[in-house]
Amino acid sequence: MLAPGERLFRQGEHGDCAYIIESGAVEILHEEGGREDVLALLGVQDIFGEMALFGEHTRSAGARAAAATSLTVVTHDYLTERLHAADPMLRHLLRTLNSRCRELLNGESGSEGLAAEIDDADRALAHARVHAEQDLTLALEREELELYLQPIVRLRDGHIAGYEALVRWNHPQRGMVPPGEFIPLAEESALINRIGLWIIDGACAALARLNALRRDPSLFMSINLSGRQLNDPQVLPALDRALARHAVEAGQLKLEITESLLLQRVDDGLPLLEACRARGMRVSLDDFGTGYSSLSYLHRLPVDSLKLDRSFVLQLDANEAGRRIVAAVIRLAHELDMDVVAEGIETTQHIDALRELGADLGQGYYFGRPAPLQAAAEILRKSL
Ligand code: C2E
Ligand code: CA
Ligand code: CA
Repeated sequence: MLAPGERLFRQGEHGDCAYIIESGAVEILHEEGGREDVLALLGVQDIFGEMALFGEHTRSAGARAAAATSLTVVTHDYLTERLHAADPMLRHLLRTLNSRCRELLNGESGSEGLAAEIDDADRALAHARVHAEQDLTLALEREELELYLQPIVRLRDGHIAGYEALVRWNHPQRGMVPPGEFIPLAEESALINRIGLWIIDGACAALARLNALRRDPSLFMSINLSGRQLNDPQVLPALDRALARHAVEAGQLKLEITESLLLQRVDDGLPLLEACRARGMRVSLDDFGTGYSSLSYLHRLPVDSLKLDRSFVLQLDANEAGRRIVAAVIRLAHELDMDVVAEGIETTQHIDALRELGADLGQGYYFGRPAPLQAAAEILRKSL
């Protein structure tokens, strides 16, 4: 606790922390030739001394309690940790602002210590990221995104049961860019919401084309949903609109959510998924086996099927223990009335083993790689 009039630091002193005012008030002072001018009077929740956090600098002004005052200290170490976790663009902006402020106030440059450390790499990263985001925004407008479809096959008899829609970016310079290279970027901003809406419509349009070939209400289309889409109020209306526009049944849609996403959100009840299920859509737990694989949670999740990750299928090759784990997971899923889709099937050995263990559906390069609608439709036509 500082007494009224007590000085916290003087202009020109070394400083490596900032303060937040919990109670009381603080005067910020410009000191020159023995004269003091009050630059600002700060109150509760205001922060001051922050400029010394960048570059372990000298205090650019003094500070004195204007009343009985208590403070919280924000250390250089704490800020360093937060900055390293932050977006490079924010770091770059902070550093630039700090350096401009210092130049304006004292004519000194702020490019030492922490400021310098976060400088060059961040400038490049921020630049690259802004470019990539703008590129991706343009990609949507120029219709460079494409939906590829990968067949999902009934293991019992090899019939095509449905497809998964997998997005691609047909980049004018880079060629076909896989989703792993741009979806994570899109997920960091609201771009994923726009891309997601486009995917919903595209997947329903593709499904309508496939329906025209095979009138079969059990034929389904799987659509991947990202975390940000789970609380996007536009998703449910977009699904309704796409179903109506392309005249497909809600029961023909499956929504894929990754296990880790669903577990993070299990406590808020996932109203979007519940609403979708109430309309007859089904929900798949994607990449099961890569996250926590929290079996104890499985019965609480609003989920109709389990997609066994490729790593599980690969375990079938490895040893007997791997096989037993897969067997147990399939049994448990069936106990909970979920069907099981095995991902990443590449060999006939995989098929034989999974069929024997009772997996319902399979997906993988063995049955077909993700391909444009034209090619997917051709496979379906031939299978009739
Ligand atoms: P995912 O949902 O687990 O999709 C399956 C991925 O496994 C696809 O990669 C597919 O091409 C690949 N795959 C299928 N069969 C095999 C196989 O037999 N062997 C091997 N090694 N791989 C196989 P892709 O298309 O590159 O997609 C990667 C991930 O990108 C997806 O993983 C999904 O998380 C994300 N993604 C793709 N499309 C979308 C989308 O429309 N929306 C969202 N939110 N995410 C998407
Ligand atoms: Ca998926
Ligand atoms: Ca998957």
